[in-house]
This record gives sequence, structure tokens and C-alpha cells, in this order.
Amino acid sequence: MWIDTHCHIDKLKESPENVINLAKKKGVLCLLTIGTELKDWNQVLSLSKKHSPYVYGTLGMHPHKAQSFDDSCDTFLRKHLPSQRIVGVGEIGLDYFYENSSSDIQKEVFEKQLNLAEEFHLPVEIHTRSAESDTLYFLKKYQSKVQGLLHCFTGSYDLAKQALDCGFNISFSGILTFKKAESLRKTCKKIPLDRIHIETDSPFLCPEPHRGKENNPSYIPFIAQLVAKLHKIDLETLSQQLKENTYKLFPKIKKEDF
Ligand SMILES: [Zn+2]
Repeated sequence: MWIDTHCHIDKLKESPENVINLAKKKGVLCLLTIGTELKDWNQVLSLSKKHSPYVYGTLGMHPHKAQSFDDSCDTFLRKHLPSQRIVGVGEIGLDYFYENSSSDIQKEVFEKQLNLAEEFHLPVEIHTRSAESDTLYFLKKYQSKVQGLLHCFTGSYDLAKQALDCGFNISFSGILTFKKAESLRKTCKKIPLDRIHIETDSPFLCPEPHRGKENNPSYIPFIAQLVAKLHKIDLETLSQQLKENTYKLFPKIKKEDF
């Protein structure tokens, strides 16, 4: 019923086998496990191959790790992005909240990876935090060249609107269920249904009513139920729409497998 468009099953305490079995029981059709740095990319590759077709992967350097992007990363990505199991570039982007890497390095590495996405015709999973104007600069620069989603969206409606105008979709995580996220829920209501994705970002950001626990993809129905409620539609209609959105954005995901 649901596709978890962003999680990190290599970072959960539970084994990938248990995580997958539990997710299947809760109606998760397939999931995208997301790479964040060179040292986890092999794990993403092997999980996506071992658990094919249930697990797909994306490869990318997270902005927190931007300073570690070097030629060996570029070589690795060029070798493995063409894999049938790797459906996107991510997560990539800008994070000036933590600024673990300088903003200049983050921008440089973000752009390198946007260029790779363009070259390999892959969508991107973008992480953005406290960096709205610089993120928008890149969305505008790469609109019509690269498609993708803004993962775990927590930004303003203005950012969402401009991202949509540039052709990028919006992905909501468990944050949507948090008590204080009223303005995010208002934003969600205004996003067209054919531009929305949902994700758990496991092991982080466990949705209510389990907030504080380790997150896993089996919790995605809590996010789906809330999106359905905000958009005043039934779960079946939402499920169909979200699947279509994901198949459209990630052409390497084989619709006929699910
Ligand atoms: Zn993530």
C-alpha cells in the first residue's frame, strides 16, 4: 500500500530482515534506503541487491559529510549510479543549522552531485535545513535538468511553493504528526496530491504516537493517515496517488513488481 521514499535501514538496531518483515505486515510495498557517505554506500548497494525487489537504494553525500567528498567518491558514484538497484542521488543538499561542513563546501558538493544526477538521469533526494535561499538558488538553476524531492520537509510554504514551481516534489515525514507542527500541516494541505511523497527517515523522527522510539518503516501508516485526513481523502485513493507519484519520479522502480 505504501512506499517509504526515504529511510536508512542500515542504521537501525534491528536487522534488515526483521525490519522488512515488519514493514511488509504493515502494508509497506517497498522502500528506498538512502546513502549518506562513502562508508555506507556499499551497505546500501548490498542491501538493495540482497533484498531485491523490496529494497531500492540511493547514493549521495549528505551535507554534514560534504568535506569528505573527494575523487574516490566521484569514482564510486560514477561506477554504481547506473545500477538497476540504485534509483536516485541522495541524500544531498544544504544544512546550515549544524554546518558540520562549511557552507561553501556544502554548495560545491551539492552542485557536483546535482551534475551527476543530470548526467545519469536520476532524481535527487534533497536535505535542506536553515538554508532556504541557497537551496532555492540550486532548485532554480537545475529546474528542467534534474527532478527530485525535498525530503523530510519542514520548510516554509513559500519554499514548498517555489520548489513545486521548479518541478520538485515534497516529502513528509513523521514530523507532520508532531504536536507543534501545525504550520507544516497547513502547508501539507496546500501541496497538490500529485506532488507529495511520504517517508519515515528511519531510524530518526518516529511519528506520534511512538515519538521518541527508534523509527522504522512499519510506522509509515501514521503519516499516511494524517495526510489522508488533511486532504480529506480515503486511504486507498491516497495510496494509489502516492504510488503513481513515486513511479513517476523514480523511473527505475519497477511498477510491475508491486
Ligand atoms: Zn535521511
